[in-house]
Order: sequence, then structure tokens, then C-alpha cells
Amino acid sequence: MSATGFAAHSANDPLQHFAFERRTPRSDDVVIDILYCGVCHTDLHLARNHGGFTAYPIVPGHEVIGRVRQVGENVTRFKAGMMVGVGCMVDSCQHCQPCLKGWEQDCAEGSTFTYNSVDRHDGSITYGGYSDVIVVRDKFVLSVPDGLDPAGAAPLLCAGITTWSPLLHWNVGAGTKVAVIGLGGLGHMALKLANALGAEVTLFTRSAGKEHDAGRLGADHVVLSSDPEQMKAVAGRFDVIVDTVPYDHDVNPYMPTLALEGVLVLIGYMGPLGTPVNAGSVVRGRRAISGSFIGGVRETQQMLDFCGEHGIVSDVEIIPVEKIDEAYERMLRSDVKYRFVIDMASLKNARQQV
Ligand code: NAP
Ligand code: ZN
Ligand code: ZN
Repeated sequence: MSATGFAAHSANDPLQHFAFERRTPRSDDVVIDILYCGVCHTDLHLARNHGGFTAYPIVPGHEVIGRVRQVGENVTRFKAGMMVGVGCMVDSCQHCQPCLKGWEQDCAEGSTFTYNSVDRHDGSITYGGYSDVIVVRDKFVLSVPDGLDPAGAAPLLCAGITTWSPLLHWNVGAGTKVAVIGLGGLGHMALKLANALGAEVTLFTRSAGKEHDAGRLGADHVVLSSDPEQMKAVAGRFDVIVDTVPYDHDVNPYMPTLALEGVLVLIGYMGPLGTPVNAGSVVRGRRAISGSFIGGVRETQQMLDFCGEHGIVSDVEIIPVEKIDEAYERMLRSDVKYRFVIDMASLKNARQQV
């Protein structure tokens, strides 16, 4: 079926209008007309080939909200007109140990990601949510609770689940002291979710001036990470630190702020850390450094339902699709409050201008 979207054709050029084909729907597929798509820092990493594994053209976008247009004959959970979401994955093997555990994101045979991935059935390249329509296997389609603003709900599909999963895994709740490093898309969701789970929440930021917003988003305290006095004042404090920083950075200054048996969970950066971690900082006090990668389908639905019950959505700045490169530049300057979301209706105007 014909589709239209915005694609990067190289690491240096602006994204452009792109016409392409979606697969003919299979019996277990859901066809979704996309209303909104969030802009994750991962989209920027992939569009600009930061990891060195981008296959061009690439249509980014894995925070998708839309309405079901049609379903295949074996689909029972969805019908035309329903508001649904799609996150970072669109398929997995469904029989390996991680899949059976509900960790489809770590599928032993390789998850099929929403874009820049290879469809496991027909070998085609997957294209993401900066587009008008998407075809997704029903098991990877999420129900969006009634009452959630659709634009605000879009970032829950990646920023929401990526922060929810480690908070749940490390038993964050009333009485837990949580810190979040970096106030961007993931960081602001971490503040909201940790606060709603009942934790005492602190933000570590490099950016003076984010204090007021941090409080509104759920932080009880703010620590300017560039100020050694403020860092010293929170020594031994945190049970869980969620680190959303997208680039190589020194984690050593944060380690002494962990409580006994505290854990720092890396979610923002996946490459080698340039500054070696002082082993003493984990040996002493049985502290740990861990990581977390998105979250499984079941967990994502659980997070969406929690957000529905608590009225939690992302703080968004809605943009037309033509502004995507400007949004990436602003994201690099940490000038985002706190997630750009593309209104996909703007695609029609963009197409007319081509
Ligand atoms: P974002 O909106 O750009 O926010 C990142 C925040 O980190 C910034 O607002 C800034 O906060 C801080 N920061 C930025 N550059 C920094 C630097 N060089 N040193 C220290 N702090 C810095 O990005 P995002 O969408 O939240 O994504 C964050 C990262 O998570 C990206 O790398 C993305 O690819 C990754 N990610 C991982 C997963 C996963 O499954 N693990 C899922 C989604 C995204 P302050 O100004 O407050 O310091
Ligand atoms: Zn993402
Ligand atoms: Zn699997």
C-alpha cells in the first residue's frame, strides 16, 4: 500500500518528503493512520548515523499514535476507529527465552524494530512513524486508554516505557529515593513516573534554570551536577539513579551519591564509557551499575494503563513535519520542553510543497 513520510537520505542532508510502499497487510496485521509521532533522541542518532549502522533512506519515528484503519482477518483485539500506539518494535520471534519472558526487545533472534530494521517475514526494510500510515503485527500494537491526549500520549511509547521499565524493575515506590540525570524527553517522563509511583525524586541537570519546570514535573529536589558542593550534599542518598544522558560522560561523580546497594541504571548511552569506572565505587557498599533497554509489550501496556489511571502524558511541543531538522538542532542544545511531537496532518501540506 502506498505511503508517504519524511526520510533522511544521508547523515548530512535535511529530511525530505519520501513516497514509499508499505507491505500488503497480512492476516494478523493492523493498518494504522498515524495522527502523531514523537521525536526521540534515538531518531536523531539514527538519522545522522551516530552508530554507523543506518541504512538510507530512513524514515524515523517510534512513538506512534494513530487510529486503526483496517485489520486482518485473524485480528481480534482491535477494530477500525480505535486509538492505538506503536513503540520501538513491530515484531520478534515469539519463541525464544526473552520473548517468552515478555522481553521482546531482547529477542534472541533479533527484534524487528519500527525503523531501520529488516522485516523477518519478507526481508523488506521497516519505515517508522514520520509517515501517514503504518502496518504492524497485532501483538505489537498497544491500546491507548480513553482520556489520554493523543499527542501527549505518543512519547509514552518510547520515553515512557524506557523509564518505566527500570523504575519497576528496581522496585521504585513509596520510600524509595530516585534521581534522574538529564531533563529531556526521557528525563521528564522519569520524573513524572517516579513521582506517581510515590518515590522521592531528585533531578541532576547541567542546565541551571530547569528548577521550576523540574518541580512541576515531579522533582522534589534539583542538583546542578556541575557544582561540587551540591553533589557532595547528596552523598549516599539515592537507591536508584536513572541516567538518560545521550553521549559519553563520566559516571564517577554520581557513584558516591548512591546509597548502600544503590544502582545507577544507564539508559541514555550505549557506547564505551571514555572515563573508566572506579571499581571501588561499586565494590564499596555493594553499589551497582546496570542498564535497561526500552521494555516489553506487556510492560508497555501496563505503563500505558498506569498513565491512563494517573492522567500522565508527556509535555509536548507540537511541530509540523517540515520543522524536524530544526527540532533535532534544538534537541542537541537541550532546548526542548520536553518532547517534540509531529502533527502528522502537516504531512499533506509538506507534500503539496514538493
Ligand atoms: P533528550 O530529549 O535530548 O534529553 C537528553 C538530556 O540529557 C538533555 O536534555 C540534557 O539534560 C542531558 N544531556 C544532553 N547532552 C548531554 C551531555 N553531553 N552531557 C550531559 N548531559 C547531557 O534525549 P532523549 O530523547 O531523552 O534520549 C536520551 C538518550 O536515551 C538518547 O541517547 C536516546 O537514544 C536514548 N534512548 C535509549 C533508550 C533505551 O532503550 N535505553 C530508549 C530511548 C532513547 P540537562 O540539560 O538537564 O542536563
Ligand atoms: Zn526512542
Ligand atoms: Zn525472540
